[in-house]
Amino acid sequence: MFEPFAEVPAYPLVFPIFWGAAAFFALAMARHLRVFAVARPSRPFANIPARLIGLVQYAFVQTKMFKDMRAGLMHAGIFWGFVLLTIGTADIVTGGIVQAVLSAPFEGALWAAISAIQNVVALIVLVSIAWAYVRRLVTRPARLTFNRDALVILAMIGGVVATELLAQTAQVARYGDIRGAFVSNALAVPLRGLSPSALEGAFSLLWWGHIALVAAFLCYLPFSKHLHIATSFPNILFRKLAPRGELPQMELEDETATFGLKTLQDLGWKDLLDGFTCTECGRCQAACPAWATGKPLNPKTFIMGIRDMAVDAEHGIDLIPNSPIVRETYGLDDTRPAAAALARPIVDTAIPYDAVWDCVTCGACVEACPVLIEHVDKIVGLRRNLVLEESRFPAELTPAFRAMENQGNPWGQPASARTDWTRGLPFDVPVVADLAAAGGLDDLEVLYWVGCAAAFDPRNQKVARAVATCLHAAGVNFAILGQEESCTGDPARRMGNDYVFQILAAGNVDTLNRYAMGERAIVTACPHCFNTIGNEYGQLGGAFKIVHHSTYLAELVASGRLATLPEDATSTTGDHRPGAVTVHDSCYLARYNNVVTAPRSVLAAAGVTVTEMERSGKATFCCGAGGGRMWMEETRGTRINAERARQVVETGAATVATSCPFCMVMLSDGLAAADGGQAVATLDVSEVLAARIAAAPPDRRLPVIAG
Ligand code: SF4
Ligand code: SF4
Repeated sequence: MFEPFAEVPAYPLVFPIFWGAAAFFALAMARHLRVFAVARPSRPFANIPARLIGLVQYAFVQTKMFKDMRAGLMHAGIFWGFVLLTIGTADIVTGGIVQAVLSAPFEGALWAAISAIQNVVALIVLVSIAWAYVRRLVTRPARLTFNRDALVILAMIGGVVATELLAQTAQVARYGDIRGAFVSNALAVPLRGLSPSALEGAFSLLWWGHIALVAAFLCYLPFSKHLHIATSFPNILFRKLAPRGELPQMELEDETATFGLKTLQDLGWKDLLDGFTCTECGRCQAACPAWATGKPLNPKTFIMGIRDMAVDAEHGIDLIPNSPIVRETYGLDDTRPAAAALARPIVDTAIPYDAVWDCVTCGACVEACPVLIEHVDKIVGLRRNLVLEESRFPAELTPAFRAMENQGNPWGQPASARTDWTRGLPFDVPVVADLAAAGGLDDLEVLYWVGCAAAFDPRNQKVARAVATCLHAAGVNFAILGQEESCTGDPARRMGNDYVFQILAAGNVDTLNRYAMGERAIVTACPHCFNTIGNEYGQLGGAFKIVHHSTYLAELVASGRLATLPEDATSTTGDHRPGAVTVHDSCYLARYNNVVTAPRSVLAAAGVTVTEMERSGKATFCCGAGGGRMWMEETRGTRINAERARQVVETGAATVATSCPFCMVMLSDGLAAADGGQAVATLDVSEVLAARIAAAPPDRRLPVIAG
């Protein structure tokens, strides 16, 4: 008869101990759900296949963890080892059923293989845990917060694994080798001389120690700050699938609703899950340019603060009666302590007021987070509430808001000045309205969306001329909206003023639809316009194919439509000789929209070799202008553009190439003030290319780019 664990004294006690602890774990976790019940609904359930693929990629393979290879290996060792070792624990708590099932195939070879793997991973886990202790207690990377809770969790995991391995070793020493368990078999060799009673005692102690630690772990975890062990999987499964650069839609018509995020109850349950999932790894903090330049904003403590607020609130919440539906249905008053905790504002509790405005919405935190927490949407949500409900925002934003609302651009320039940049060009730049009036709209290949910066800022006007020069040289039939173009609303939206954003966006959607621009490509040199038109105008009924100028110019060259000069030829159209070049990637282009190769392709077409900065591509370091920071004073810490300029100078490059008008302004200013920066030129990739192009026959035509 099959008698599992016959050698374990009082084995049946394992069932009430383990299953009792498991029930306690479930009930304690349910306590967390009480606060979820008062959050707003989130509906991240669409597109299950993509969610499952993401689960494999981010939760099982843990691709983001490996961006820091050593920490990634350590974490993978602990995670995978722990998962594989639970097979043994599952066998114990199910009365040996797991072993019985897995021993049947291949005459026990499968179970022997599992035993061998478990032995190996037990060693890997123990080494990884020792490594984790060294990091937390000795090397102490700045991004990690010292915290006893993490040490307790590590000790428990290590204890669970060590007792399992050592109990098996004592078992082998007393009763003989276990097939496959080669580590335990080897470790048992020197113990074989001990008396049977000593080995039996050691085995019992270690075996029950293992069970006691498993039970303690289950009882401790729900109260630990390292709850991510349980919440990471659902958090990754229910992650945001909309484009990273698309902020949540806002309903302005509903005057009874709270605008933006003020208290915990304005967050969705997925936002709370983000809080409970934070591993406190500090990767977001290490990536944040605001934190790096000494500002009070720390994305890690913000997310930890949301979790702490939720834990505070849930203590006073009764599971069912506190649900708003039940309260409304039965007319219940809510005077319990939870009501006060739930009414606390997030600003100045989880995040300081100043920090809300320090964010450049660069997305570096989101990109770095291994468990896919969304910081930016929440920070903008807080700004929305401060702006639209409390009128509490930095004073310098008032003129920018007014200028966007009244003049259609944050520079406050008249619409009539929108085409000033075309002066001096040796060719005409057609305006769409004129083409339409003349019946020439059908021949239009591409709309060049100039953007406010290139229309009004003198330095960026040169970029607009370079883009137009390239399009003209390639024989592209393009036109501009001229006075009919207005700000896309990106700065207003990211500053929290969705009211102004929606006015501007609705106007632009109407204009673009009037000229049937949904059927042809729109090209822009501004990553912010690119992101907003491409990713956000869908919320207002606009579906447009927008292409960044770097992508379009690279395709013009690749198709042979835009010819470049031979390397030794003298430039005929420009005076820029870029020398050694480094590239500064725009957050809204590279990180938010994955356009990394195209700017480099344009530079390569111009015969330029690039020296990369340490933080480049999707890991780029913000210039300091995003999130409306272009229109705010930077009074806290050092300037972000000064830090980026320092990084540029460090490369030794003579030129930094950009693909964004905001980056152009910020880097030019930063370099002008930086040690050794005055010798570094800031050029848009289109300017570098325009200096190296040859005129092309007008019959060259590129098919409209598909999206
Ligand atoms: S978006 Fe950028 S500035 Fe804002 S918190 Fe994240 S990393 Fe920091
Ligand atoms: S928010 Fe993400 S990156 Fe930041 S500390 Fe938490 S888990 Fe780490």
